[in-house]
Amino acid sequence: MSKNTVLEPIELFSFCPRCGSKEIEPHEENTAIKCKSCGFIYFFNASGSVIVIVQNDNGELLVTKRAYEPFKGKLDLPGGFIMPGERAEDALVREVKEELNVEACDPEFCFTLANKYPYSGLFVHTIDLVFKAKVRDLSVIKAADDVSEYAFIKPELLKPEDFGMDSVRKAVVDLILNKS
Ligand SMILES: [Zn+2]
Repeated sequence: MSKNTVLEPIELFSFCPRCGSKEIEPHEENTAIKCKSCGFIYFFNASGSVIVIVQNDNGELLVTKRAYEPFKGKLDLPGGFIMPGERAEDALVREVKEELNVEACDPEFCFTLANKYPYSGLFVHTIDLVFKAKVRDLSVIKAADDVSEYAFIKPELLKPEDFGMDSVRKAVVDLILNKS
């Protein structure tokens, strides 16, 4: 198999992860596997993530550049995966702090987008929660973690094709370019 091959999660399972049996079968229209030996069922549910729209007082959008694959070097918006047990609003604050060293506040939910994120040879299915948020003190902003650079860009200068992730591109188009 090529190292660039990306598979659906169900294609990566050959054995039951609980009892080791090869007697596993697709379940619930390929959204799960079921083991015929021990009855174990595992669902490939969408992972929750947040996308954060931050604009400064001039209406410019806070845009980041991705430091790592997938989509290394492409534009992105702040955000990332919601951890198990974490609220989306807390994930938003944590991710913005990790990536840009600033405190996000006043999250305002906008809409969701379904996405597929290629990672480690499999498609991670995500449900992206798009929020608008404010930032308390922009003077301490700096790129960190999985962000190599940041910039505030006037919406009319943004090119959707410069964004790596489908859902982020759609969020930018829907929220910023169509409605500003
Ligand atoms: Zn089993």
